[in-house]
Amino acid sequence: MSAAGHPRDVVIVGASLAGLRAAETLRAEGFTGNLTLVGAEQHAPYDRPPLSKRFLTGQPPAADTALPVPDGLRACWRLGQAAVRLDPYSRIVTLADGTGLPYDGLLIATGAAARSGAAPGEPGPEQGVFTLRGRDDATALRAALTPGRKLLVVGAGFLGGEVAAAGRALGLDVTLVEAGSVPLVRAVGAEVGAFVRTLHREAGIDLRTGTTVAAYRAGPDGRLTGARLTDGRTVAADVAVLALGAVPATGWLAGSGIEAAGGVRTDSRLRALFPDGSAVPGVVAAGDAARVPQPLAGGAAPALGHWSGAVEQGAAAARTLLRGEAAPVFAEVPSFWSDVHGVRLRSVGLPALADTVKVHECDREARRLEVSYHLHGRLVGALTIGRTSRLAAYRRTLAECRP
Ligand SMILES: Cc1cc2nc3c(=O)[nH]c(=O)nc-3n(C[C@H](O)[C@H](O)[C@H](O)COP(=O)(O)OP(=O)(O)OC[C@H]3O[C@@H](n4cnc5c(N)ncnc54)[C@H](O)[C@@H]3O)c2cc1C
Repeated sequence: MSAAGHPRDVVIVGASLAGLRAAETLRAEGFTGNLTLVGAEQHAPYDRPPLSKRFLTGQPPAADTALPVPDGLRACWRLGQAAVRLDPYSRIVTLADGTGLPYDGLLIATGAAARSGAAPGEPGPEQGVFTLRGRDDATALRAALTPGRKLLVVGAGFLGGEVAAAGRALGLDVTLVEAGSVPLVRAVGAEVGAFVRTLHREAGIDLRTGTTVAAYRAGPDGRLTGARLTDGRTVAADVAVLALGAVPATGWLAGSGIEAAGGVRTDSRLRALFPDGSAVPGVVAAGDAARVPQPLAGGAAPALGHWSGAVEQGAAAARTLLRGEAAPVFAEVPSFWSDVHGVRLRSVGLPALADTVKVHECDREARRLEVSYHLHGRLVGALTIGRTSRLAAYRRTLAECRP
């Protein structure tokens, strides 16, 4: 530690959105020590939301998704090197090549990986079955989405809906399979799900709900030809995308003693916790790898996986590394957006908590929707389509009325 109480050696594991935002904040707030960013991918930081949207349809060069790295970051980049172990007692992060990186401040920002759902031996990208998390996945998928092909998307959540919409925009026949009764029902409720179902059907997507894939079918060359669904029907497909959610990329913390199942559990200043609830000295976590207490959820720590959460938590975690107890408590209102068939869904708060959903406006023709979410009569979230200006008031209320 320096005389100012700042750490001298900060290591950030995960060189993406949360990690980069933390690095920027450290420098902006006066950190002058050594800063190392470790990233499993070869790529410099890039943005993921475009990968399921215009990257699939618009063919922009991959460089267009790069996140700007400010001049003056003065960081040592260890890209293409996964961290494989953490010893929080001797304060060393070990990389895949065996290098040990000592730290007095560590940020865990390793994000999440796509949940594959594929059993060993089931088809992968070579056979035409993809998942989508990183730029390399998106590049491979984009090459496979050629007009005239048949695309099967498994899972009609936000990511699955966006990929299905991109497939239609590219001229593919698209079947979208969803285990729930309507798309998005667990995340934002049946009302929004029904609205999005209409958008999918109007776009010509064959949406099958209440079912999922029982088995894939392949031709003699091993390439995908289709799938049998659990409802007994079959679907022809040359390309499939499994959009089954994400799991925090925290396997490298096994054996560290840190509570990381389902994401690194943190306190309200983003300090990583041991299972007994004590803070791991010098270690913070942010973004999709972290489970941060949410005031709206009464302090429970759901895994959210939102872009804005990674940005805000990255900055907040950096402040905790610099200021410890004097850093502000993290209390941002979560927010999220998704683009599908030319409309943007925006949400604030935690809609999934709600026991009651109020529909204030639903105009399918004009593509407008305004919905608020309540738990025991208290506002916990809101979602709009085509009514962005209304979200600011909900956000204010959510920020003011947290229990
Ligand atoms: C295709 C896609 C579309 C999305 N669209 C939206 C959207 O429309 N709206 C929205 O709000 N959110 C969206 N998101 C979510 C948003 O992108 C994430 O919440 C955000 O990227 C999380 O940032 P992060 O830095 O925590 O994790 P990530 O962006 O996942 O970055 C983690 C980094 O850590 C690296 N890493 C993993 N393990 C290790 C290791 N052991 N050692 C070193 N490095 C490691 C990974 O390679 C990765 O580069 C989308 C996500 C995806 C994948």
